[in-house]
Amino acid sequence: MSTNEELFARAQRVIPGGVNSPVRAFRAVGGVPRFVQRAQGAYFWDAEDKRYIDYIGSWGPMILGHGHPAVLSAVQEAAVQGFSFGAPTEREIELAEAILAHLPSMDMVRLVSSGTEAAMSAIRLARGATGRKKIIKFEGCYHGHADALLVKAGSGLATFGNPTSAGVPPEVVQDTLVLEYNDLAGLEQAFAEHGAALACLMIEPIAGNMNFVRASVPFIRRCRELCTQHGALFVFDEVMTGFRVALGGAQSVYAREIPGFVPDITVLGKVIGGGMPLAAFGGRRAVMEQLAPLGPVYQAGTLSGNPVATACGLATLHEIGKPGFYEALARRTQALVAGLRQAAADEGVPFSGDSEGGMFGFFLLDALPQNYRTVMTTDGARFNQLFHGLLERGVYIAPALYEAGFVSAAHSDEDIAQTVDAARAVFRLLARG
Ligand SMILES: *Cc1c(COP(=O)(O)O)cnc(C)c1O
Repeated sequence: MSTNEELFARAQRVIPGGVNSPVRAFRAVGGVPRFVQRAQGAYFWDAEDKRYIDYIGSWGPMILGHGHPAVLSAVQEAAVQGFSFGAPTEREIELAEAILAHLPSMDMVRLVSSGTEAAMSAIRLARGATGRKKIIKFEGCYHGHADALLVKAGSGLATFGNPTSAGVPPEVVQDTLVLEYNDLAGLEQAFAEHGAALACLMIEPIAGNMNFVRASVPFIRRCRELCTQHGALFVFDEVMTGFRVALGGAQSVYAREIPGFVPDITVLGKVIGGGMPLAAFGGRRAVMEQLAPLGPVYQAGTLSGNPVATACGLATLHEIGKPGFYEALARRTQALVAGLRQAAADEGVPFSGDSEGGMFGFFLLDALPQNYRTVMTTDGARFNQLFHGLLERGVYIAPALYEAGFVSAAHSDEDIAQTVDAARAVFRLLARG
């Protein structure tokens, strides 16, 4: 049997950093990444056959848990019919219809293969549809790794951002305005200065790429008003939250507080593929008809709407559309966060946590952060101790404190209880310093 350590050494010789997506390398927390051998339900097993309760679920897609029988047989049947055709299939229509049925903000949807591709295409569509160049994004929100979106705030308020990656020329991000999340004053100022040039504002409504931070209801309401007033499109990046926080996504959560609320464009990924490479973006008919072949905005993909991926997505949406699914998922996720909160309180460790549907986050801080700057005040060393303490005890949370966590329908009350027990033991160690 290979060990994780042997595999990591071998991987590093042929793959940069030994991984195909940086966070998997454990650079933030240190130590050796666990190479996954197989997974079932709420668990996966590493190269050494050690079992972990899985709270990343492929970073969100595995909302039913691993190897759900209905999804597995849909994928097997589709694979027998063919892997990819480069020609349209009925299943693409079915998946589009299934997505639209739950998201009244969208009349049409285009399927792509990754969240990065969907977000990048949504920006191009917004620019093409409005004939404008500038876009707003928020510090701490991640929208994939397209050039124009790899930006951090420059110095001072409402400045255009600086690239966060080598290889992104400054001129590519010069039209990307980076604002602080939940900062109404910064938002007002940005629209006052640049409103007429803004193609869109893109936001993670419940940000899962700076752990778990909600946009406040007044903030979302004001974003909506300002976009409408200035003719900019409001883009909800629901790659993580779509079909994860509720059947209608984060937009349905905000619509409970803001009657009639809808974004103009929605970006989806993760859950809609059920673990296969599948993502999408959609919106009102007039906007979507700007896309090729109907309109002047070009967008394409050899594997877009892939028949095996669409089968996986459809079967997943079918299962999560059953009555009571989200109620049960939310209850279990709330029980986890409540259990962790109680354990931290008992051991005298600062803790704040939150969840929506099957997505959660927690901080070793007394109060929930409202923006990236505050998230950054978390003590990384203490988080790393917690991470490794849990890992040792067979609980796998995200190997970086800037990531949300995910509960699946396969997590049992017993799994939650075991997780809370493990956390309690680690909190006790943390409290001793
Ligand atoms: C994961 C994620 C993306 C990128 O999706 P990929 O499939 O990894 O390219 C974009 N936006 C958000 C909010 C995400 O969570």
